[in-house]
Amino acid sequence: MNTPTYKRIVLKLSGEALAGEQGFGLSPEIIKSVAIQVKEVLDLGVEVTVVVGGGNIWRGKVGSEMGMDRTTADYMGMLATVMNALALQDAIEKLGAESRVMSSIDMRQVAEPYIRRKAIRHLEKKRVVIFAAGTGNPYFSTDTTAALRAAEIEADVILMGKNNVDGVYSADPMLDTTAVKYDQLTYLDVISKGLQVMDATASTLCMDNDIPLVVFSIMEEGNIKKAVCGETIGTVVGRN
Ligand code: UDP
Repeated sequence: MNTPTYKRIVLKLSGEALAGEQGFGLSPEIIKSVAIQVKEVLDLGVEVTVVVGGGNIWRGKVGSEMGMDRTTADYMGMLATVMNALALQDAIEKLGAESRVMSSIDMRQVAEPYIRRKAIRHLEKKRVVIFAAGTGNPYFSTDTTAALRAAEIEADVILMGKNNVDGVYSADPMLDTTAVKYDQLTYLDVISKGLQVMDATASTLCMDNDIPLVVFSIMEEGNIKKAVCGETIGTVVGRN
């Protein structure tokens, strides 16, 4: 149970997962719990990167539905992810681990610019690298950011921590009592069945680059460690 299956990971956390029950803003308890779980796997010698979303603060789509320019609304969403990243960095460092926030949008006073080689250097020094500001481009998502960064840094897996489900289901388990949970899926299944795992851009990027994905619940403490050690929790999505 203490032997990591994956040596270098990208942990994807949606903004919602950091908000807790209220669904908006940040829950200090959840951020602390995530930080504890991150430290746990760091202590196993795993190289940890985190991609945080921003949906607990702002989503570009909401802004554009309100009549805003989509690009401006998306930049606001990217800025929201930076706030989440800083909160997570703070919680991780309070536990005595080192962490760096790397932003895809230049903001030198608050975060380092994202430079791939530098990110890898931080990982070698056992620092938790938090990727903020998404890809730095509008019309993308932080799921796509996770897929992109995972490919760039040659991560072994993307661990997608969810707050409201413990894996991938055939339908929304909150709305449909007949929904069944999948243990294993391929990216082609995800795309062809239209499963709500990640957006299509992110799925195809993962599929093309052969990056496995584990979808699991972040709400149970110790789950990141279980996922890292290859225990069967949640749903595994892969090429075959
Ligand atoms: N976003 C963007 N480009 C990116 C990543 C994010 O424009 O590369 C914007 C987009 O508006 C999105 C918001 O940032 O709605 C928050 O990201 P996301 O919706 O992926 O967050 P999550 O759902 O994971 O909380």
